[in-house]
Amino acid sequence: MTILVLNCGSSSIKADVFQSSTLLRLRSFRVERVGTEQCVLKEADIETRLGDVGHAEAIKSILNKIEEPIEAIGHRVVHGGERFVHPTRITTGVLEDLQNLVELAPLHLPANIAGVEVCREHHPTVLQVAVFDTAFHATLPRRAKTYAIDQEIAVRHGIRRFGFHGTSHKWSAQQVALTMQVPLEELRIVVCHLGNGASVCAVENGRSIETSMGMTPLEGLVMGTRVGDIDAGALIALAQKEGWSLEELDLFLNKECGLKGLSGVGNDMRDILERSAEGDDKCRLAINVFVHRLRKYIGSYAAVMGGIDALVFTGGIGENSNVIRSRTCQNLGFLGLRLDADANSERPSTSKTVVEVSHYASRNKIFAVRADEEMMIAKDTQALFNELDTVVRPMGIPIAISARHLHLTQEAVEVLFGKGATLTVKAPISQPGQFACNEKVDLVGPKRTIKGVRVIGPVRPACQVEVSRTDEYTLGIDAPIRNSGDVRNSPGIKLVGPAGELTLTEGLICARRHIHMDPDSAKAFGVQDKDVVEVAIDGAGRDLIFGDVLVRVSPRYVLEMHIDTDEANAAELRRGDVGILQASSFQATLRSKKV
Ligand code: ADP
Repeated sequence: MTILVLNCGSSSIKADVFQSSTLLRLRSFRVERVGTEQCVLKEADIETRLGDVGHAEAIKSILNKIEEPIEAIGHRVVHGGERFVHPTRITTGVLEDLQNLVELAPLHLPANIAGVEVCREHHPTVLQVAVFDTAFHATLPRRAKTYAIDQEIAVRHGIRRFGFHGTSHKWSAQQVALTMQVPLEELRIVVCHLGNGASVCAVENGRSIETSMGMTPLEGLVMGTRVGDIDAGALIALAQKEGWSLEELDLFLNKECGLKGLSGVGNDMRDILERSAEGDDKCRLAINVFVHRLRKYIGSYAAVMGGIDALVFTGGIGENSNVIRSRTCQNLGFLGLRLDADANSERPSTSKTVVEVSHYASRNKIFAVRADEEMMIAKDTQALFNELDTVVRPMGIPIAISARHLHLTQEAVEVLFGKGATLTVKAPISQPGQFACNEKVDLVGPKRTIKGVRVIGPVRPACQVEVSRTDEYTLGIDAPIRNSGDVRNSPGIKLVGPAGELTLTEGLICARRHIHMDPDSAKAFGVQDKDVVEVAIDGAGRDLIFGDVLVRVSPRYVLEMHIDTDEANAAELRRGDVGILQASSFQATLRSKKV
C-alpha cells in the first residue's frame, strides 16, 4: 500500500508516492507550467506533454499513472488560518472551511483545493489529509504573532502573523535533532529556509516561537521576487508618488522586488552570484542586502531564545550555495558558530539529507539540510492514518438521540399511576429488553414545568430523570453530568402523574454521552468497558468531535452511541418526532482512544 503526497503550487505540481509502512519513496512526478501550452509532466527522465491544461486535468494525468494501491493522500495546504493547526482529515466540512480561507492565500489555496477535489473524486474512500504550511507556527507566542495595532481592528480583519514554510522548518529541525542525537525538545535551532520564497524560524524545544514571514509570505527576508521587510511608510510613499493602485502595489511587492528588483537580472541566485563575482555592482548589492538581512534575523532569533545550539540552511539556496552560507556565518563566532570551509563545500543530497558544515571547534553546530516537504507531509499523513486506523476502515457507530425521559421504581409507578399499576409497553427501544412506556409524567421545577415526559421501562431499583442542559434551564435546576445509574447527591425534582405526585430527593441528571457496545464491537474498536473516547460526527455541514464519550461494554448491549437532543442539535443531526431513543440516520466514527 502507498501514501500519495500532492503539493500543488500556483503553476507547478509535485506528487510523490511513498510505501506506507517504510515511507520509501517509490515514484516522483513533477508537472511544470500548469495552465500554459508548455505544460509538461515528468517522471524521472520521461516527459509527457500535457498541452494547455489546468490543475485538475494535470492531477488526473498523474493519478492515471499510479497503479499502486493508495491508502492515504497527503495534501500540502498553504494556509490553515486560525482553525487548522494540525494535520487534518479532509471531510466535506473541512473542504468547505478551506474554501472560506481562500482570501488569506488567493494565489495558492485554489490550487491546493483543486488537488483535494480531484483526489476525492478519483479516490472517494481513501483517507485525505491536509498538512498546513502555517500549522507549525501555531505555537508562536502572542507577543510574536501580534502587530502593534488596535487589537479590535486586528481581530476583525485577521491581521496577525501566521508564518509559512512550517513543514520545511519542522522537517529540518527534526532531521538536525536526529543527527545531533539530542531530543528536539532540548534544542534551540534557527532554520533558514532559503528558496525562491525564504523565511527564518526560531525553533525552541521543538516549537516555532518566531518566524520571519507574517500575515502573508511578504514579510521578512529578501526573496526571489518578494520585498521582505520594508518600512510601511515607504509603501504609502510609493503608492502616492507612482500613482499605483493597491493591485499594482501588490504586484510590485510580490513579483518585482527582492533579488529580482535589486539585481536587475532576475530572481535566480546562481546568476546573481555569477555576475557579482564578475563585479556587477547591482548583483553585489543584492547579495549584500540578502545576507545582511539574514544575519540580522539569525542574531535576533538567538537573542529571542537566549542562545542557539544549531543553525540550519535549507531550500535551493541554503542547500546549494556554500558562498551564501559562508557569507552569512561570517562574524557569528560570538554565537559559538564557526563554519568549516572544507565541510561547507559539501551539499546535502537524497542519500545524505543532513550535512554538518561547522568546524570541529565550533561550540554550536551548523548544518545544511535537504528540504523534503513531501516526506514531512508523508510522515504526518502516515501518523494520522495510524491514529485514525479505525476510521479509515470504519465500522460506523449508529447514533441514537435521547430525548428527556425517566426511569422509575415500582413504588414510584404506583404513586404516580395508581396502586397496583405497572408500566405498559408502547414500543421497544434499541437496547434489548428496554421499552418506551405509554406512561408519561410532568417534571415540575422551581422555574417551569415540562409536561409529558415519557417513562422508560422496565422498572429500576432507583428513580432517575435524564434531561438536557436546555431542559435544566427550563426547569431552573442545575443537574450534574453523570453516568446512567449514578444519581448520588444529584438534585431532586417533583414528578406529577395522573394518580399522584412524588418529590424525589435525588435523581435528576444530565446523562453523560456514551456508546453501548457488545463485546465483539469493543474488540473491533480496540476499546474496553469504561474507556473514554473521542467520536467524530460527519454531520450535515456541522462536523463535530465529541470528547469524553464513555464506552460501556456488555453482552446485553447493541452498538449505538447515545447523545441528548442538545448535542444532536449542535451536530445538526435530525431526530424523529417521537423518540425516547430515536435512531438517526447518522453514523459516528471512533477517532481516538484515551483511557
Ligand atoms: P522554491 O522556493 O521555488 O521551492 P527552491 O527551494 O528550489 O525554490 O530554490 C530556488 C532558488 O535556489 C533559486 O534562487 C536558485 O537560484 C537557488 N539555487 C539553486 N541552486 C543553487 C546553487 N547551486 N547556488 C546558488 N543558488 C542556487
